[in-house]
Amino acid sequence: MIRTILTLWALALAGPAVAAALTPAQVFARETTAVAPHIWLIAKPAVTDPPFEGNVVVIEQARGLVVVDAGGAPVSGQAVVAQIRKLSGKPVSWLVYTHYHGDHNLGAGAVRAAWPGVQIVSSARTRENMTGPPMAYVTTYGKSYGEMAAFAAAQAGDAKLPQALRDGWRRAAEAGPAMVEAYSDLKPYPADLTFESRIKLADEVAPVEIAYLGRANTDGDVVVWAPKQRVLATGDIVVAPIPYAAHTFPGDWIEVLRKLKAYDFKLLIPGHGPPQTDRAYLDRLIAALESVRAQVAPLAKADLPLDEVRRRIDLEPIRKAFAGDDPWLRYVLSAVFTGDLIANAYKEARGETVIQGKG
Ligand SMILES: [Zn+2]
Repeated sequence: MIRTILTLWALALAGPAVAAALTPAQVFARETTAVAPHIWLIAKPAVTDPPFEGNVVVIEQARGLVVVDAGGAPVSGQAVVAQIRKLSGKPVSWLVYTHYHGDHNLGAGAVRAAWPGVQIVSSARTRENMTGPPMAYVTTYGKSYGEMAAFAAAQAGDAKLPQALRDGWRRAAEAGPAMVEAYSDLKPYPADLTFESRIKLADEVAPVEIAYLGRANTDGDVVVWAPKQRVLATGDIVVAPIPYAAHTFPGDWIEVLRKLKAYDFKLLIPGHGPPQTDRAYLDRLIAALESVRAQVAPLAKADLPLDEVRRRIDLEPIRKAFAGDDPWLRYVLSAVFTGDLIANAYKEARGETVIQGKG
């Protein structure tokens, strides 16, 4: 989660201070769940409150561990390393990035410090993004979250807002100072090894296949498949319970989601949020993308301005499907999914390019 929510927050003026600020170690704490033989999920429990920290998946092979993503800040990476050390005495041999967004890789320094022999692997495209302009936002990430924290505090104190929305803002405000601290002095660790379409990490007990299936959440997403355990880690191609759509490619994304449905998985681990045991969430996501594309395309082709297109789109079925009546989840959905999805579908319909890291 990098842009829209920050933009919305940054538009506001500073508000009153909020008490009960939490420490980075509290805010970025993680819990580990065994999800299959030799596979664990290391996750931040409150997935719909900032910081929006990517899931980490650990796969234990005979000689070492394969880790999928690394947490989104140095302190987060340290929390991940501490959890991994409790699971196995084996070294981390491979660290796989699902995509370039920092909430999945800015903790990599801690992994590298703990296991200097680790090989970091990503798609070639993800490496290009991490060494180019799309990753530039990390230099102002801490400042952005300072503005967010001030806005969150103001919203939390706004008596005109529904209580559930104010509660969400209060949680964001409480985490704000810790995020500012955690998101300062960030350093990306681009992959040591890249590939174009597929790579296999052979093993008797837990072989791993990494595949680029097409453009989806970014132009370089990969999925990680453990065929013996039938566990599929998708990165932010799938985010639950609120999907994420910053600089996505709606048409291609639907095709990739259909490819995910074709995997014979027992468990699908999204980039954020709880594992899925069936295809219902994939279907819900595909339906949302298809609905927005179908509504946007004729209006975009008729040269209506984007703002007018936004006014004409009926998002209520999508809001109901993902957020129900929860005001905070509805806010998060608009901030990280529907707003961007409409803009991306608009560009797609007009043949314009979606540029990574830019609106
Ligand atoms: Zn993410």
